Order: sequence, then structure tokens, then C-alpha cells
Amino acid sequence: MFGWMGKLLRVSLSLGKIEEGEFPREWRETYLGGRGIGAKILWEETPANCDPWGEENLLIFATGPLTGTGIPMSGRFSASTKAPLTGTIFDSNCGGDLGVRLKGCGLDMLIISGCSPTPVYLVIDATGAHLKDAVGLWGMDIPATKAALKQKEGDTVSILTIGPAGENLVRFACCENNGRYLGRGGVGAVMGAKRLKAIVVKMGERKTSIADGERLRFVIYEMRKWLEANPVTSQGLPHFGTGVLMNLMNEVGILPVKNFQRVSSPQAALLSGEEVSEKILLGQKACPHCPVACGRVTSTGPERGEGPEYETLWALGVNMEVYNLSLVAEANYLCNRLGLDTISTGGTLACAAELAEKGIFRGGIKFGEGDKLKEMIENIAYRREEGDLLAEGSYRFAEAQKVPDTSMAVKGLELPAYDPRGAQGQGLAYATSQRGGCHLRAYMIGPEVLGVPKMVDRFEAEGKGGLVIFQQDLNATLDSMVMCRFSSFAVGDDYYARLLASVTGLDYEPQDLHVIGERIWNLEKLYNLREGIGGDQDTLPPRLLREPVKERVVSLETMLEEYRRFRGWDKKGKPQKEKLKRLNLLEEKNNGKGT
Ligand code: SF4
Repeated sequence: MFGWMGKLLRVSLSLGKIEEGEFPREWRETYLGGRGIGAKILWEETPANCDPWGEENLLIFATGPLTGTGIPMSGRFSASTKAPLTGTIFDSNCGGDLGVRLKGCGLDMLIISGCSPTPVYLVIDATGAHLKDAVGLWGMDIPATKAALKQKEGDTVSILTIGPAGENLVRFACCENNGRYLGRGGVGAVMGAKRLKAIVVKMGERKTSIADGERLRFVIYEMRKWLEANPVTSQGLPHFGTGVLMNLMNEVGILPVKNFQRVSSPQAALLSGEEVSEKILLGQKACPHCPVACGRVTSTGPERGEGPEYETLWALGVNMEVYNLSLVAEANYLCNRLGLDTISTGGTLACAAELAEKGIFRGGIKFGEGDKLKEMIENIAYRREEGDLLAEGSYRFAEAQKVPDTSMAVKGLELPAYDPRGAQGQGLAYATSQRGGCHLRAYMIGPEVLGVPKMVDRFEAEGKGGLVIFQQDLNATLDSMVMCRFSSFAVGDDYYARLLASVTGLDYEPQDLHVIGERIWNLEKLYNLREGIGGDQDTLPPRLLREPVKERVVSLETMLEEYRRFRGWDKKGKPQKEKLKRLNLLEEKNNGKGT
């Protein structure tokens, strides 16, 4: 029995048409779901150089084979598109309940094409789907949109929506679903360009099919035991959220401060997970089927909301030299309300603050100006005053000021909260990431700082190529099974293979997962090459390559050479024929004309 049905809905917003469909079984086996299937469809169905804002760009919401099975940490979904911030292939992953709800309605995926002439929202239930007028919702922030939709569609619906930032095409606008976010890359702006304000999914009764229920129950039992035994998943994340990383990253000197001009701060502890728990925490929040519950529900007194997580504490706090927890939390709530990615918001503001410090950009915000954070965030979301420039993201903003090197971004995506001059492998992971400056394609902080699965020398460049590839491939598979990354603190590829085999009824060995991930990684590379994003863009902001901290820069050239050799790519970073043949990707060479 094959427990992964591949049912999809195609929604053409230009034509106002909705059709049911199914994706080929072969794709299910070779790309699994989520990010993998998203990449395959973008490759097959969008033309080369399509405009991220245009009708031809697709927005694909996908579940995975494990979604709806109740497996711990599997209640997530992903969105894939060509990103307006980077121009690369992009997928974003979210722990809201939309994926589980889609499965309940008998659906695995939505493919949204075209652009509606007027604002609409999509309603899905077990009997079908239809588009409804959203003119009255356009302009509302996220809480107001959800309240209005619940009034129209019922209290129990799941709502994925954008806020004003998405409508105003801020290049790093996000989407919200049940207090969780499709954060990075501007997925919310693609929805805005399509004039799709929201997706509403009603309750359905369909159960996800499972090939071998008895085997699955046992694997889940074991997995729960491992999650309980692991200190990160049983204590660190539940008690302190991801903010538990703050003090450690500061201690080891990889916490970026002032737009990566320094790597530690004596005040960082004021924004630690421990401080969040002591001062503002109301409770935990979990994605569906997750016993870890790393999310934070907090209150500053006057305001209440979700977050801040580690990356936000850093981006809006440490990196901006704002060490007031309430101000940072409230800036986070505002980003949540307006629909902005907090990492890119903070990264862009830090870039503006550095240019203000150097006298290159007037207006904007200076480091330490915490009381100006909210005003700047509003200006970005509504593209008011200098916010209009900042809404383009740090790279386009810095380029317009004729100092592009001040943008701490890779391929246009602002870097997260780890300075790679103190973790060489993380530098390679950033540079080679297909979606730009991201710590989730390969989290080398695991082996280089946390000692997970085992400690390696973080200052050593040699030998990092293989480790990065191992993580990139496995993570591509996890994103396609649609499993939370934090599960990998407690279990390894053998567990993922057993979960997949139990649900699908197919024989998956750990090595198969790495091959699937490698295929997805190479297909994403082919997509980026097709868009003109070549190996020369597998690099880092010059600051990380030329300005030493503690006498160290990132030794990228050494690592890239090894990386490309291990990947079976040529010296310029292009996959070679032999590699593509082995991955059954050779026939992909001439695609990209659209279908
Ligand atoms: S660990 Fe956190 S992010 Fe992962 S599934 Fe659980 S609540 Fe969601």
C-alpha cells in the first residue's frame, strides 16, 4: 500500500478557476513532498526568468507524507516559490495547522498561479474550494483579518493570511498561520502580488493513510523516548525556547553585533531565553503534534503576543544594540501583526544604522534607538518615507546607497544570528545555500559549537565540505518529509527512514534519504543556474572574508573547492553530467520552458 496520495488543487487566480489533480507517483517516491515536490513543480512548470511578482510565478503550499499522521514534530507544511527578495528558488516552512487541515480535507498540495484582478481569499473544505471577495479585508493587519474571517467562515477554521507588508510588496513580507510564520524570502509578498489575502481551511474528517500502523506506533513510541531523553528537546527548548542559545553564542564569540561589526556583547544576557522566561513568559506554544513546544507566548504588560525567538531577540535586539527586552518583544509583536520577517527586518535596519553611523544615509534609525524600532517597522510595512527604500531589503537598499558591501546578506537574504568567522563550516553553509543567507539548510553550529552529533574544530576549514553536504542533503529530505528540524537533536536518519517506510509502505534505508536530499539539492541548483544565479554568488559579504575578528576571517575558497569536488560539481559550481546522471536529473537539462 502506498500511503501518500498526491492529491492537489490548482487555483488559477487570473481565471478564477479551480481544478483538482494529482502529482505522479514517481515524484512522490523521488521527491517525497514539501520542499522537494515544490522544487520539482517550479522547475517543470515555471519558465526561466519568470517575474516573482508575475502571473507565471507559482506559489505552492505542500504537506508531506507524514503530515496528519500524529508523528511528533510532523505537523508542519511548506511554501515554495521564486522569491522576490533573492530571485532564487525558495521554500519556507511553517508550524501552523494549515497542513494538517489540508490533509483532513483530502488534499496534499495547493498550486496557486496567476494574479487576481481584485483581492480574494480562498476557502477550502472537504467538499471543494472557492474564491471569495476580499476587498473589504485588504489593508487590515493580521489579527483584524483573522477576526473578520472567523466571523464570516466560523470560529474553528484555520487561516493563513498576509498583513499590510505583503499587500505592499515588501520583499521580506511573511504569512501567518495559527501564530506560526512562513517567515523568510518574501512568500507574503508573492501572495500580495497575486492579491490573495488569505487561505481558509475548514475541518475535514479524512485520515492520512498509513501503510503499517503497528510498526509506526512502535517507532513513535521510541522517538518519544529519545525526545524525552535529549536535554535540548526535553529541557532547553521547552523551558527557554530557542532563546536558550543567546548566552552560549555570546560566550563563544559568534553573536553578531552592530551589523556584524562585533561578535559579542556584555549586555546580551538581557535578551536571553532565561530572561524571556523570567520576565515576560506567559506560556509555551507548540506546532501540531509536538511535545517540545518551543514557541513562546509573552506579555510586556501593555502588550501581549508570540515570540521573541532567538533570531528575533538577536535581529531586533543585539544586532541593533537595543537591550530592552520589552521594546524588542513589542517590535516582534508589531512585525507579527503587519506580516514582516523579523530576521530580514532587523538585518535591513542594522544595515541602515551602520550607514547612518558612517554619515552615508540620513534619516532611518541609529544603533541603540530602541524607541524608534516600531516607527521604522511601520514605515517599512506601509512603505512610508525611508521605509520604502528599506522595504527592498538590505542588499537593494545598500546598493542604492552605492555601498552594497554593507548588506550582510547572501544572495540577497539577510544572514541570521551566527557570525561564521568563529564557525567556518557555517560560513560555507551560508555561502552555498540555494535560498541565500540561512542557517537552516545546514546548521553547522550543531557540530561546531553544540557538539551535536559530535564536536568538530570550529576554526578549521578543511573537512567542512563533507559535513555541510551531509546536513544539506538530509535537511532537504526532512523539509520534504515535512519534519521539524529540531527533531534531529534527538533522532537520526535511521529513525526518519523507519517513519517514512511505516507510512508509505516503501523500503527506505537511511542512505536513500541522503540520495533523495542530494537530488533535491542538485535540482534547486539547476533552477538557480537557469535563473542566472551561478557559482560566483556562492559567496559571503566581504566583511566576513576580509575583516578579521580575533584574527580570523572565513576561509571560503578552501572550503568551496572541497565542497564542489565532493558534490561532483565543476570548479565554477555547476553540477557535472555524471552527477546528474546518477541522480536521474540529466533529462532535467532542457526544462524550464513552462508547460
Ligand atoms: S520543536 Fe518547536 S518548531 Fe519544532 S515542531 Fe515543536 S513547537 Fe514547532
